[in-house]
Amino acid sequence: MALDFSFSFEQNAWREHVRAFAERELKPHSRAWDAAQVLPREAIRKMGAAGILGVIGAPALGGQGRDYVSLGIAIEELAAVDASCALIAWQQATHAHFFPGWGDETVRAVYAGECVVALATSEENAGSDLSAIEANAVEDGDELVLNGAKVHVSTMPGADVLAVSARIVAADGGKAKMVLLRVPTTLPGVSSAVMEQMGARAHALGSVDFRDVRIPVGATLGDAGQGKAIMYARFNVSRCLSPLAALGAARAVLDETKAFARSRIVFGKAIAMNQSVSFPLVEHHARIEAARLLAYRALVANDHGEDATADAAMAKWLGISTGVACIQDCLQMFGANGYLKDNGIEQRLRDVYSFLFTGGTLNIMKLILVRHLVGAEFAGLRA
Ligand SMILES: Cc1cc2nc3c(=O)[nH]c(=O)nc-3n(C[C@H](O)[C@H](O)[C@H](O)COP(=O)(O)OP(=O)(O)OC[C@H]3O[C@@H](n4cnc5c(N)ncnc54)[C@H](O)[C@@H]3O)c2cc1C
Repeated sequence: MALDFSFSFEQNAWREHVRAFAERELKPHSRAWDAAQVLPREAIRKMGAAGILGVIGAPALGGQGRDYVSLGIAIEELAAVDASCALIAWQQATHAHFFPGWGDETVRAVYAGECVVALATSEENAGSDLSAIEANAVEDGDELVLNGAKVHVSTMPGADVLAVSARIVAADGGKAKMVLLRVPTTLPGVSSAVMEQMGARAHALGSVDFRDVRIPVGATLGDAGQGKAIMYARFNVSRCLSPLAALGAARAVLDETKAFARSRIVFGKAIAMNQSVSFPLVEHHARIEAARLLAYRALVANDHGEDATADAAMAKWLGISTGVACIQDCLQMFGANGYLKDNGIEQRLRDVYSFLFTGGTLNIMKLILVRHLVGAEFAGLRA
């Protein structure tokens, strides 16, 4: 009797709350935000006011103190109407929660949707391989001087404060360590530019340059040398959220496609009468359910304080590949209408592709699994 796949009463009520909010406040604007390539701050404030950005946050800081499963539920429901909102919500919720050192005032503001924080770690030559970063911070008295260039940074331009990964060389010339630096985007020497993307376009993506940016020595998120560990702790949760986003979007598209297949008459009968149409619909339904269970199981492991590295990698690979395959198939079932801008599925397909990369690619998820299931020496990853 120990296996129990049901959500609690509170979790179900939370899902209803987020679903109603998303339908009312986000869905009517999703297409316009995609076209304008911007999510108004007002939408982020509304997600904050609805309790979504602080769902796992400490109540003392304005958070809801709920579990990671509840965050997963929120992300699934947001993605059912808008991928960009889901992406921004899981980033805000997890950045504020997992990175120590933002300061209580900043964390409160993030949970309220009044402040946007972002992680700037990817570089032109350091995406999958975090160890290859070249951004560096050099001690100069009681300040650090940061130089470097980041790419593919979510919510940039636009974010207020960044967590920037950099190599830090101690004044005594010891071994360089990786550190996360707390860098307000208004500091002299910080500049950013838009990187135009195919999907999740309301969530901005940008490059950020740091030229002789001076920050206080104490402005780190965690200690020097902990930068990677802090990011990986967050990955164990965020890699369960991106698949739930892909699956939430796929579930919504699948529902629309089932309704279309029942009503679209071709050769005198509904296209759902053809098993070449109805079979893929039920197959995708089954795959989505299986992938959701894996993602929620990985979140439960996180909630229990277990090491969820392998579970999260499995959840991410299966959930995102399942979501992408479902939306690709559904688009074709709509015929030429699916291909048109008017229909909205083409936006869903562009959007879901963004989840293939953020937080690590599907190949990297498989390499993590090789490390766990086959042997570290066969993964070819750095320790
Ligand atoms: C929508 C979106 C949001 C993002 N948000 C952020 C953000 O907020 N902050 C941030 O810092 N970054 C962000 N990123 C960047 C993201 O983390 C990187 O794109 C990702 O880590 C992959 O790095 P890369 O694109 O440089 O690919 P690369 O590392 O150059 O890899 C290229 C390809 O090679 C494959 N590959 C690499 N090594 C191996 C191997 N050993 N075996 C098999 N295949 C391999 C990869 O899977 C990939 O397909 C975002 C990206 C996107 C698209």
